This record gives sequence, C-alpha cells and structure tokens, in this order.
Amino acid sequence: MGHWIAGTDRPGNSGRTAPVTDPATGRVTGAVAMAGPEEVRTAVAAASAAFPAWRDTSLSRRTAIVFRFRELLNARKGELAQLITAEHGKVFSDALGEVSRGQEVVEFACGIPHLLEGGFTQNVSTGVDAYSVHAPLGPVAIISPFNFPAMVPMWFFPIAIATGNTVVLKPSEKDPSAALWMARLWTEAGLPAGVFNVVQGDKESVDALLTDPEITAISFVGSTPIAEYVYASGTATGKRVQALGGAKNHAVILPDADLDLAADALVSAGYGSAGERCMAISVAVAVGDIADDLVARVAQRTRGLRIGDGHGEADMGPLVTRGHRDKVAGAIDIAEGEGARVVVDGRAATGTSDADIDVSQGFWLGPTLLDHVTPAMAAYREEIFGPVLAVVRVAGYEQALELINSNPYGNGTAIFTRDGGAARRFQYEVEVGMVGINVPIPVPMAYYSFGGWKSSLFGDTHAHGVQGVHFFTRTKAVTSRWLDPSHGGLHLGFPRND
Ligand code: NAD
Repeated sequence: MGHWIAGTDRPGNSGRTAPVTDPATGRVTGAVAMAGPEEVRTAVAAASAAFPAWRDTSLSRRTAIVFRFRELLNARKGELAQLITAEHGKVFSDALGEVSRGQEVVEFACGIPHLLEGGFTQNVSTGVDAYSVHAPLGPVAIISPFNFPAMVPMWFFPIAIATGNTVVLKPSEKDPSAALWMARLWTEAGLPAGVFNVVQGDKESVDALLTDPEITAISFVGSTPIAEYVYASGTATGKRVQALGGAKNHAVILPDADLDLAADALVSAGYGSAGERCMAISVAVAVGDIADDLVARVAQRTRGLRIGDGHGEADMGPLVTRGHRDKVAGAIDIAEGEGARVVVDGRAATGTSDADIDVSQGFWLGPTLLDHVTPAMAAYREEIFGPVLAVVRVAGYEQALELINSNPYGNGTAIFTRDGGAARRFQYEVEVGMVGINVPIPVPMAYYSFGGWKSSLFGDTHAHGVQGVHFFTRTKAVTSRWLDPSHGGLHLGFPRND
C-alpha cells in the first residue's frame, strides 16, 4: 500500500514498510509504505502546484465538488466502514457511526460560501470603500491518529478544501487504507489532481512535513507528547498549528442521578470502540454514598458485553495492535498492584466470531472495571486508551470538581444529575473544553467546534465549525478608491479619513 500523489497511486520508494494487521485474527494483511523526505517533498510539491488554480476556482464549482463527495460518501460509506473494521478492529456499526460524524463536516463545508462572506463598508473616506476577504493559506498538512482513520481527517479536509487550500494527509500507519479510499473518492467527485494527497508514514514523514517551507498550516490529532512536539516544531518554522492531544475524561455522578441511565452511559462511553476514543469516559467520579450501588450496576452491564470480531454481532472489538493490548493489560496489573479493586477483569478474555474464522490470535482484552482508584495511582494519572473504567470515590461535588480541574487533561467531561442548578454550575466551573449534561460523549456537531483545554490541545483554534474556517483562512483587508482617482497631488502625511 503506497501513497496518493497528484491524483494517482504511488508505490513507496524509501525502502521502509510497516505491517498492517487485522486485530481480530492477529494476521498481517498487508504492508504500508513509510514515506521518506523525498516522497513527502513530491506530495507537497503536487499540493503547491495545484494551489493557484484551486484557489481561483469559483466557490460554486468548489462547493459542487464537495457536494458530490458527500453524495458518493453517503452512498458508499459501508465500504469505508468495512476497511476501518478490518484494520482498526472497532465493530462495524461503530465504524459506520464514525464515517457519519465525519460526513457531517462535509455537509457543513457544502455551505462554506456563507462563512466566507467578508465585510464591506462604503465610503470610509470620501470615495473610498473598505472590505475584508478570507483568503486560503496554501498547501496544508493533516496528521491523524489510528483511532478515527476516517472521521478525524474529515474534521479538517472538507473545510480546508472548500476554503481553497490544498491538502497533504498523513494518516496513522496502523490503519492506512481509509485515507486512500477517501482520496479515490475525491477524484471520482471531480477534485483536480494534487488538491488532496496522501503520504503514508511515521515520524520521518511528520518531520518532513513540519520542516517543509511550502506547508503553511498543520492540523494534528494524537497523543499529548507528540501533539506538543508538533506544535512546538511547526510554530518554530512559522506554520499555523492546531494540535489536539490525549485525554482523561471524567464523568461525575451526583447522588441524585438516575443510576440506571448513568450506568448505561458509563458502560457505553467507557467500552465503546474498546475505549480507544479520545472522548471515552475513563474515570467515573462517584459522589457521596451511591458508589457501591453504581459499581454494581456498571459491573452487571459490563459482564453482559459481547467481545468479538467487529464484522459480526459483537458490542466491542479487539484492540488495535498486540503491543497496545499488552500495554493496556499491563496498566491493569499495575492498578491491581497499587491497590485498586478489579471488579470486572478483562485480561483473560478471548473474542468470538460469527463467521468461520480463527480469532484465537486476535488482540483481545475484555472490558475492565476498577474500583477504589485514587488520584495517586498510575491508572488515574495516565491515559490508558483501552477498555478500562476507573471509579474514584469522592465525598461531594467540590471534591469532584477539584479532581477534574487539577487534572492536566481537559478534553471532555460529563455530569449526571437531576438538578439543573448543579449541572449549570458544573458547566461554568469545570475547566474542560467539551461538557456533557446527562450526555456521556459530548462530541460537538460539525457547526460547533471540537477541542479540549489544557494538555488536550496546543494552539488556540478548535477543529471544524467557524473555528475551522478561521484556521484555514487568513483575512485580507482592502481599501479601495475608484471615484476621482486624482487624489490631490503629492502628500507625505499619514492617510486621514476626511
Ligand atoms: P500518536 O500520537 O501515536 O500518533 C498520532 C500521529 O502522529 C500518527 O499519524 C503517527 O504516525 C504520528 N507519530 C507518532 N509518533 C510520532 C513521533 N514521535 N513524531 C512525529 N509523529 C509521530 O497517537 P495514536 O496512538 O495514533 O492515537 C491515539 C492518541 O490520540 C490518544 O492519545 C488519543 O487521546 C489521541 N486522540 C485525541 C483526539 C482529540 O481530539 N483530542 C482525537 C483522537 C485521538
């Protein structure tokens, strides 16, 4: 599997490849090329060459192509979801959900002409008008993580393309097929060659993008240390950078909450996609005397989950790689050693398959529930990024708030309560970018913007919505005089508005 540059498939020529696996069977299903600096340069050069004509393409024609991409995606999203399940492992319905959430951004981008409207002020001085326009930046890079191989790139590229930029996407090497599938769909939709390019790779290709002088902006999503590195390196070379990082998302369950609703929400948000979501709930903060009751309800639901091959009827699939599966299992060992109570233990779980395939070598780890976790434990401090839900018990609302606000991450959070006043207070007082009230995974709609606070985002612009349009454009202010261009002769004073 290679790259997609200037509208065609390009085999890798760096001599480096990485294996691609099916997480349900553990089988190596392919090899993906790892781009070196030369291949990245070729892709950026293609994006640069395509930029002037794409920038000058009328808004009507640009949005017509985005609309055609939407129509093709909507008709064929099952194909894309199959690819995601085969390389990531998440269950098919979840993969389809991911594509649909990405599609919402494509739909948002179809309405871009409205958002590119500038301002106009007539007669700011006698015979002089002033106006502003939103100009595209040029070639931009998108660097995405393994856990949403379709949705995360779609947080950015529909808006980047609709606003007149050209794109180089560097997807995760763990599930590289989705990006190529989307590239081919763009060509089918009529996008000119070079406007959307894909380079496969790892740190080497990321570093080449970070230092390429023709890349004007970088949208990165991944773990916090890499996000911080990308932000520091990209801004040091003068690029505009938004770098979304990792998370540790808390759900606060107040004593007056509907505990069945909260338990359903915790299980869904903790174990959906095997916990490999940046908006997964990984910490349940049980307030007051409800903890035993809540843990019992969560445990009962967790034990009923079906673990298996994502193409079948399972609720939860395998983890993405064997290495990641073992790391998450190791985090459970450490939690147990530090005194957490393992209420439901997923370490010995094996998956099933509805089809006649051997899943004995799959990267299985069952949903795991840890109780009596404390803020000092590694299971609380570190992002585990697997199907592990930690319960921390606190006495009151103030302690719950203090816990969240002193955590270095600030991606998502949720509160479960029947008290509108408490929810309203939480919404104002909590230092987190996305807040759910009786909603466990508050992923904003495409017309709002997605982003966390603190170590969950480096840069000041969130993804999609009006902030996305802002990120992919720069303002130009024009002052123009057409009437009476003879301006009264030579005058070296500062221009005045008379
Ligand atoms: P990752 O940081 O390992 O990789 C992300 C991207 O960076 C990939 O394209 C990868 O090839 C590249 N990369 C990896 N190591 C690099 C290095 N040393 N130098 C330069 N580039 C490098 O993340 P991942 O494991 O693919 O994804 C999971 C992480 O992403 C989790 O931490 C999760 O919370 C986070 N995430 C965050 C959001 C968000 O919106 N905040 C969304 C999805 C995932």
